[in-house]
Amino acid sequence: ATPTSIMVGTGRAAEMGVLFRKGDALQQLQEIKLVALDKTGTLTKGQPSLTTFTCAPGFTRETVLPLVAAAETQSEHPIAQALVAAAGPDLAQASNVEAIPGYGLRADVGGLALLVGADRLMQREGIEIGALAETGAELAKRGETPLYAAIDGKIAAVIAVSDPIKQGTRAAIQAFHQQGLKVAMITGDNAATAAVIAADLGIDAVKAECLPGQKVEVLEQLKSEHGAVGFVGDGINDAPALATAEVGIAIGTGTDVAIEAADVVLMSGDLRGVVNALTVSRATMRNIR
Ligand code: ADP
Ligand code: MG
Repeated sequence: ATPTSIMVGTGRAAEMGVLFRKGDALQQLQEIKLVALDKTGTLTKGQPSLTTFTCAPGFTRETVLPLVAAAETQSEHPIAQALVAAAGPDLAQASNVEAIPGYGLRADVGGLALLVGADRLMQREGIEIGALAETGAELAKRGETPLYAAIDGKIAAVIAVSDPIKQGTRAAIQAFHQQGLKVAMITGDNAATAAVIAADLGIDAVKAECLPGQKVEVLEQLKSEHGAVGFVGDGINDAPALATAEVGIAIGTGTDVAIEAADVVLMSGDLRGVVNALTVSRATMRNIR
């Protein structure tokens, strides 16, 4: 590629709100065979809201939700914001709040030992979910994320949060397919939930229940199966995958850590920016050959 054509392509992309931080990203982008995307905050808005709160016998939403929210005020996860917003003001003070990345959190609230998180957190802590597992499975089938709360070692509630699909996501996935690319989703979310959302969006491959450190492994696997890959993400834990992909693409509304690790930055959160980037990349390389 000539420096002039790269400059022209980079300029055209910038006009469309796509910043190429490195010249070779413009060349590498048209070589990718697959686009892998983080789910929360990339395919979805990253602003979940609480949809369902079902308690085990002996517990009520009025007593459990304020305890959960008290602990979640100390977490920065989007799920935490949904739970805090649903609980309202005047929460108790939680102590010993411990985030368990990829699982949830543990805290002491009002003299009670609280656990909130995915089903695997309950399994890890030896808590029997019992009949609420069926409710959780139903919620996951609707594409919602089931979480569980346990108090003093006993299952207390299943809580669902739902995160809407972003404007532009559907159209972007259709365009990737039209451009002959495969599309994959990588997420820490529940496998059943992720599968429903992926099927709805027409995504070809789903890698769910990834622990934060596993996104890179999954990406390496996709690379060996498909060839050059692009990865699109927004979060702190997406940075290693952004660096591993042939082309790392960060959402400009995402975290600074993700932006720093990326080759390409989208000024808006709309995934059609990735489609524009691909189009410019292909046009630039065509002119050169
Ligand atoms: P993702 O970014 O895909 O949501 P995470 O590794 O951050 O992946 O989270 C994986 C899962 O761990 C979530 O879907 C949720 O079930 C659980 N989890 C993580 N943090 C919290 C939290 N603060 N409160 C409740 N559950 C959580
Ligand atoms: Mg994300």
